[in-house]
Amino acid sequence: MRLLFIVLMAISHHAFSLVVLQYHHVDASTPSITSVTPEQFAQHMALLEEEKMVVVDLEDATHAILNGETIPDRAVAITFDDAYQSIYEHAFPVLRKKHWPFTVFVSTAAVDREFPDMMTWEQLRDLYSEGAVIANHTQDHPYLINTPKDTEKEIFWQEQIIDAEKRLLEEIGESPKIFAYPYGEYTIPMAEWLEDQGFIAFGQQSGAIGQNSHPQVLPRFPASGAYANLDTLRTKLNSRSFGIGRDEVVDPVIKKRIPKLTLRIPIEDFDPDTLQCYAAGLGEMDISPKSRRGKVTVVLKQEKQIESGRGRYNCTAPSLRDPKRFYWYSQLWINTDVENR
Ligand SMILES: [Zn+2]
Repeated sequence: MRLLFIVLMAISHHAFSLVVLQYHHVDASTPSITSVTPEQFAQHMALLEEEKMVVVDLEDATHAILNGETIPDRAVAITFDDAYQSIYEHAFPVLRKKHWPFTVFVSTAAVDREFPDMMTWEQLRDLYSEGAVIANHTQDHPYLINTPKDTEKEIFWQEQIIDAEKRLLEEIGESPKIFAYPYGEYTIPMAEWLEDQGFIAFGQQSGAIGQNSHPQVLPRFPASGAYANLDTLRTKLNSRSFGIGRDEVVDPVIKKRIPKLTLRIPIEDFDPDTLQCYAAGLGEMDISPKSRRGKVTVVLKQEKQIESGRGRYNCTAPSLRDPKRFYWYSQLWINTDVENR
């Protein structure tokens, strides 16, 4: 049975995966939870070379993979949120020397107000002229799921996202219509609105991007703070995308108790018996996988309440072709009872 399975796998078409790394500050003096030091950043970039990763342009590679086109095997894209000055000082020289593309997600009001720890528009134009993608991260960096009182949701999104887009067009001359959710917080209605506006959008839930990924709920791996560790980063660089489709993505907003999640995962290049799922901070979950017609169905349940502002379910399984690589999927939960998440 196992042999037949492997043979079937070998003749099925090769599925591509794109890993996206997310950074904020590259500085030794900024809050460590959202920072890597310049030394750590250099170590990360050396690890990309050691792992023979191909650093790709986020815009080109994401559109290609979502369209079912070919991208390099071992593709990785580098992104920075919030346009901090330290990116210009410490990351840009390293990336320029290697001729590696990267993306900066900008909250435009902070740049307009000339906050001293932010890059200037002049510096962002400089990055752009060297091949960087300058993309949208709202005007004011709010919790987008918290609509201000007496405001319509869509008016709020319009002000935060479409007005930021206008500023990018005015200052950079071009915007790729790529969005990153502040704090990685999205809702399904927000994702659908962004789709109507012609954006693709990135969160901060972990996992690799594949052809079937939700184009407005794209995963990234945070690589700062506790996630800067080289061994876990190596595992993430080697991750692959389960063929989980957009219909399996559920709205992350909850009140304390995490709901039951049923995932139907196409069985490709992994053994359903090796599938493991975890609730972040709460350990491994009992998932009782059931395989039928090329898909495995797992039911993820968690009785405990989450006390923190955000939680996650993560599922992984080793690749049969290359057991060093893991399929990886993550579902975000947002506990709106916690105000400063
Ligand atoms: Zn941000």
